[in-house]
Amino acid sequence: MRFAMKTIAYASHSPDSPLVPYSFERRELRDNDVAMEVLYCGVCHSDMHMSHNDWGMTVYPVVPGHEIIGRVTAVGSKVTRYKTGDAVAVGCMVDSCMECDQCHHGEEQLCREGMTMTYSSLDRIDHTVTQGGYSKYLVVREEFVLRVPDGLDLSRAAPLLCAGITTYSPLRTWDVGPGSRVGVIGMGGLGHMAIKLAVGLGAEVTVLSRSEGKRADAMELGADKFLISSDASAMDKAQSSFDLIIDTVPVKHDLNPYTPLLDIDGTLVIVGQVGPVAEVNTAPLLFGRRRIAASPIGGIRETQELLDFCARKNILPECEIIRMDEINTAFERMERSDVHYRFVIDMATLETEKK
Ligand SMILES: [Zn+2]
Ligand SMILES: [Zn+2]
Repeated sequence: MRFAMKTIAYASHSPDSPLVPYSFERRELRDNDVAMEVLYCGVCHSDMHMSHNDWGMTVYPVVPGHEIIGRVTAVGSKVTRYKTGDAVAVGCMVDSCMECDQCHHGEEQLCREGMTMTYSSLDRIDHTVTQGGYSKYLVVREEFVLRVPDGLDLSRAAPLLCAGITTYSPLRTWDVGPGSRVGVIGMGGLGHMAIKLAVGLGAEVTVLSRSEGKRADAMELGADKFLISSDASAMDKAQSSFDLIIDTVPVKHDLNPYTPLLDIDGTLVIVGQVGPVAEVNTAPLLFGRRRIAASPIGGIRETQELLDFCARKNILPECEIIRMDEINTAFERMERSDVHYRFVIDMATLETEKK
């Protein structure tokens, strides 16, 4: 049965060009494929970086989008977990080798052969370039499709698929629960989820910020404390008082003010910035057996656990819903950190011109 379908989308064609309407064909359904109509798609910093080829790995034209909420429109003959009409989700990866040790224990994001990313990656079977969620339809193999539990607001769930899992995974890796002392640096898309999820897990959460300005917002998101990193005496008093610090800052920055804040065996985990950091002083690391680590998204099993956890605890990202044709303005606003806290595209607007 020929199933390949034409889909409309928004794509970038070069590092300097804006996203523009684009149309292409999704692959024919394989036995284990799920086809879905995209309902909502979150706008991640990576979408902007990939559109501009900031990391040198973009294949043009690129259709970004890896925080995807959809509704199943068709399934391949061997699909057992999903049926037409189901609410589903897709995150940052759409395939992996499924045979290595990492894939076997559900950490496909760490696949020894490298995960297949949702866009600008090569499909493992036909080697076509994958294209993301800024599109009407999407086809993904069953194992990389997630179930959206009943009760989770579809219009607000999308950011869980990248911002959510990126902050949830380190919270789980470092066993955060009641009694854990968690610091969060940065209060954007990732940071605001780190606060909500750590609070949801029962931790005592402190937001670290350069100035007083974000205190009210931090408290509203559920934080217990607010620490101003430019206040030397407050920083001094906070030494050795955190088990885990989640660093969501997306640009190059200095880690040295933060490492002494960790308790012995504490960890500062970087989830935002990809690239070099300022020179690190090892003294606080060595004398406190403290660690600097980094962490990429999370596995499929853990992402499903996150969706179920958020449905149970009624934890939802703070979203600003936009039209598809507002995406270029959204990118500009993200560069100025002018968003509370994540843009989500209502994909129904892909088909209607703005009046
Ligand atoms: Zn992302
Ligand atoms: Zn693998």
